[in-house]
Amino acid sequence: MRVYVYSVLWQGKWRCRFTLDWRVDVRYWFSQAVANGVRENSSHADVTNERCAPELWITTCCIPLGTAVDVVGQWGESRLEVQRLVKLMQDAEPGILDWFGRECIQVRRIGVEEVWREIGIGVIEEHRKGKLEGEGGILKESLWSDAVWKQMKDESDLLAAQISGRALLANEVQELMAAAGLDHAVAYWRTLAQLAYIRGQVKLLSGITTRSLGQFSLLRRQRELQCLRCGSSAAQHHRTACAACGNPGCAYCEACLAMGRSRRCALLVHGTAVHNAGASAAGVARAAERAPATEPAARWRLSEAQHDASRAALHFLQQPSAAAAAAPSFLLWAVTGAGKTEMIFPLIAYTLERGQHVLIATPRRDVVLELAPRLAQAFPEHRLVTLYGGSEERWTAGDITLSTTHQLMRFYHKFDVVIVDELDAFPYHNNELLQYAARKACKPEGKFIFLSATPPEPMQREVRRGRLPHAKVPVRFHRHPLPVPQRLTIKPLRHYLENKTLPKSLLHQLSRSVERGAQLFLFITRIKQTEAFVQLLRHYFPVITIEGTSSEDKERGEKVTRFRNGQSRMLVTTTILERGVTIPKSDVFIIDADSALFDAASLVQMAGRAGRSKDDPAGHVLFCAAEWNRAQRLAVRQIVGMNRIARRQGYLLPTDTERSS
Ligand SMILES: [Zn+2]
Ligand SMILES: [Zn+2]
Repeated sequence: MRVYVYSVLWQGKWRCRFTLDWRVDVRYWFSQAVANGVRENSSHADVTNERCAPELWITTCCIPLGTAVDVVGQWGESRLEVQRLVKLMQDAEPGILDWFGRECIQVRRIGVEEVWREIGIGVIEEHRKGKLEGEGGILKESLWSDAVWKQMKDESDLLAAQISGRALLANEVQELMAAAGLDHAVAYWRTLAQLAYIRGQVKLLSGITTRSLGQFSLLRRQRELQCLRCGSSAAQHHRTACAACGNPGCAYCEACLAMGRSRRCALLVHGTAVHNAGASAAGVARAAERAPATEPAARWRLSEAQHDASRAALHFLQQPSAAAAAAPSFLLWAVTGAGKTEMIFPLIAYTLERGQHVLIATPRRDVVLELAPRLAQAFPEHRLVTLYGGSEERWTAGDITLSTTHQLMRFYHKFDVVIVDELDAFPYHNNELLQYAARKACKPEGKFIFLSATPPEPMQREVRRGRLPHAKVPVRFHRHPLPVPQRLTIKPLRHYLENKTLPKSLLHQLSRSVERGAQLFLFITRIKQTEAFVQLLRHYFPVITIEGTSSEDKERGEKVTRFRNGQSRMLVTTTILERGVTIPKSDVFIIDADSALFDAASLVQMAGRAGRSKDDPAGHVLFCAAEWNRAQRLAVRQIVGMNRIARRQGYLLPTDTERSS
């Protein structure tokens, strides 16, 4: 996209802007002169009452959006002039003069005295001849009448209200308009967006923008590109020839490409949240009356451990945000099987009672789909919006938003409370993108709640240093301790697959699990070993059903369903199933547990598959490996540590000996 850049003298001060539709700006800044011109009554112009700038300087041709955004950001309070404009354009886009004609960079003056003459006749003529770029829309052959101008303002108000809290690319703005009953106005969306921008209701940005590397003067001049949608830096941008701006090397973002193409010259619209202070105050008052309803245990039937943690998180939400603190966060560190979902219900209720927006975000789509019916059931009187790739509700507004983390890129300062589930479920390099998106989706004064059974190491460090408020839920909902992994020393799986035998010690443990009627998770590190391992197991256990699956398996869904239904007894799998699949009576075998591919978090998650049911709370977990390494030690230490805390706090059920004594 290309846009005009101008500066306007208003109340004695020059302001620099860019425009998607220059007619809007001329009409806005020269409101009185234009209106009088339309009425052909310019002699009675009362320039003191209505908005009427004395002069405006504008480029005579459009310049690429990304460059224009930078120029406007740098310009300051002076009149637009060519020499500095050329310099700033080169700063913004080095080498721009190689493909953008220097002779095109001109500015022209529009004075109040010539607005009607120039704009009313001259510019319109040029527009008709195609010399000036602008959108058709309402304007046919004449300037907008007052009635049309008013109608456009109303429509732009509607658009701004819809965009509020969102971050959208141009095509998404159009989709949103069509979904919001503004489909008739899609043809002149640029006009309405410009009107909303100039009245401060939306921010117009470029998808990829420059940021300075530091605050010190030396660094401030070094600038690098950043994608404003996902936060990625230049390393993840590619350059292609671009018809929209004419740049033979226009940067686009590879990191968030799945969500549409964010470009150096692509418009990104941020809706400035409309703060409804009145409604919020009323909500707070109502919430105060209903305070007992948010007493977690009573309303949501929480266990004692869940209740204590939930109340600590509620207390955190009730604290006023310190102005200086960036994004206050709270960690709910809950062991696998603790019942995290129930614990967030009181937090959601608290937020809703204040008339605020709450977001529950998780990296995994299957968690979204599983959580949606439970939330809908828990909060039947509130509108729930569920967002994931391909979701039908992309443009629906709701009280509770449940979303995969990728969909967060379409939000901007929308939510008062952001609950992030399993932030650690994806590798760390992805987390940067997701954290950026989550921070952007949250209001500046909003708060974060993180849920995890295995918080990432930086977060654990913050906990140890006392910098991150948190609550631990060290016990499962059934109040039995977590199964502690046992060590089984065997050679690497590769060795046994080559020799087509399994060691006696492993066979003994497998038989024991089969005989006690458990289902077995067998985690391995390499997808290509799956089939051979399954064959070998079938050789030893011919009468039971054994299957194998991985991320590359097209039948994974069916196989997991068969395993869930108990139709298969052993499932050989990679870490793809380390979370999510819960089997009532199951044992866990982690083969090659000393592999560098398994970190402590992964081991804890896999171990967490066992002992989930109150009828079989003590499943077996075996770390099968040649070496006993740091990750295994850390995992065991974490599990034992949680059990110890649970015992100390009296969360565990009394054991038989305790009961009899
Ligand atoms: Zn471009
Ligand atoms: Zn991006």
